Amino acid sequence: MQFGYSETCLDHDTGARHPETADRLRAIRQQLTRRHGVEYVDADPASVDTVGTVHDADYVADLREFCADGGGEWDADTVASRGTWDAALTSAGLAQWAAERALDGDDGRETPFSLGRPPGHHAVEADAMGFCFFNNAAVAAQSVLDSGAADRVAIFDWDVHHGNGTQDIFYDRDDVCYVSLHEQGLFPGTGDIEETGTGAGEGTTLNVPLRAGAGDADYLLTYERAVAPVLDRFDPDLLLVSAGFDAHRHDPISRMRVSTEGYASLTERVRATADDADAGLGFVLEGGYSLDTLSESIATVHETFDGRSPVEDDADPTDDTTDLLDEVRSIHGL
Ligand code: ZN
Repeated sequence: MQFGYSETCLDHDTGARHPETADRLRAIRQQLTRRHGVEYVDADPASVDTVGTVHDADYVADLREFCADGGGEWDADTVASRGTWDAALTSAGLAQWAAERALDGDDGRETPFSLGRPPGHHAVEADAMGFCFFNNAAVAAQSVLDSGAADRVAIFDWDVHHGNGTQDIFYDRDDVCYVSLHEQGLFPGTGDIEETGTGAGEGTTLNVPLRAGAGDADYLLTYERAVAPVLDRFDPDLLLVSAGFDAHRHDPISRMRVSTEGYASLTERVRATADDADAGLGFVLEGGYSLDTLSESIATVHETFDGRSPVEDDADPTDDTTDLLDEVRSIHGL
């Protein structure tokens, strides 16, 4: 893979006791430099105008002023510093880079992965929340739609939290499909199976709130029975993965049980979907708070594009998952 990375993203300082710190990027870099063939690319920050295509202008101006004044607690979870403004624009710019590279034909070993922070998928049109300021994946999707590089973009969000911001921004749109697998009941509490889009966007949002404890078998069955058919039907030009790694069994902030190999298996499935649709494929970092498993999982995603085959265990999905998938399939006419 080629990794988008910028030192500017280290300047978003959340303080000593916050789980979303610059050490996440340092750990990823350290792990990746142990592997072969890793290429880093710096990208330009997103422009204020580009960010403004998915965010409210007053909110963007307020955030700029808040950071210029030194930052602080935007809300109880979401902390900014003076460096957050540039880091947030850069994180969005890295996601834009990934989308553009993918649509330009970079695939296989050249598949782009943007390692930006702050993460983005909770950021809504006019507010920051859940550690997120600008919705990086949404900025990237909108920018390639606006440039004409793509007519249809799908965002598959495997972060353990529901990407309420991404869903909201595109909820009534028929040119962006948003698909989320998340832990039921976790922050921010949205992402019910009945949330499927509205107006022209009816049917272009898919939510699968898995029960706490779901592991690789549950995720892979969900991909096969719900995610793949919805993405196939949507037929995107670009598939962006909102790649958080906080559903890992060793992540401190969820109760899910995805393994490092499980992320490799999911990566293989996603790559097959993109190939079948003849779509570009790019990854955008979201959450993941255990430094070891975050960095190992990303290295394993990288190696999957380098020819490594994942080993899948033979566990069965739970009855909760199969029952939930029956309901989801019925709602989406699958
Ligand atoms: Zn998350």
